[in-house]
Amino acid sequence: MHPVTHLLAGWTVASAAKLSHRDRVVVGIVAVVPDMDGLGFPVEFATRNSADPLLWYSDYHHVLGHNIGLALFCCGIALVIADRRWTAGLLTFLSFHTHLLGDLAGSRAADGYQWPIPYLEPFSDAWQLTWSGQWGLSTWPNTAISIALMGLVVYLAWWRGHSPLSLFSRRADRVFVTTLRCRFGNPDAQ
Ligand SMILES: [Zn+2]
Repeated sequence: MHPVTHLLAGWTVASAAKLSHRDRVVVGIVAVVPDMDGLGFPVEFATRNSADPLLWYSDYHHVLGHNIGLALFCCGIALVIADRRWTAGLLTFLSFHTHLLGDLAGSRAADGYQWPIPYLEPFSDAWQLTWSGQWGLSTWPNTAISIALMGLVVYLAWWRGHSPLSLFSRRADRVFVTTLRCRFGNPDAQ
């Protein structure tokens, strides 16, 4: 799925408990972290016609980051830096797995390639997870899921008092939440 969809899914997980801003950032962002292994795409694209192309995207995407090893590493970071360590650690684990689940369900390439998830890496390459019902990356179910998550995130912003805007600007987030509460009322009064 697209990074924005992953981020929205991670944010809903981050809103499942009352966390500090720092903990929410950790839990929310980790839903996008697996796709860091796709950053080799520009390099592969730029060298595709050279005599010695660098296949950093084909070789490493869904290999380096989409596995239990990175999930545990992210949990470890959450356990060290979060304010509510165990809650944030558990939600970090869940947030990371919303990414894997999303890719398993809706990341089929246009050429039909399923981008298997080597879940047990770096400990073992025995599991290469795919799902026979997987739909394409640019298809309506992904659009529908993204729209549904956007609606949920707006509701959570009204209810919980924070949105993914706080990842970029806490001031913009406050303006957004205040606007929602002016329009729809204060959740404490309902
Ligand atoms: Zn991914």
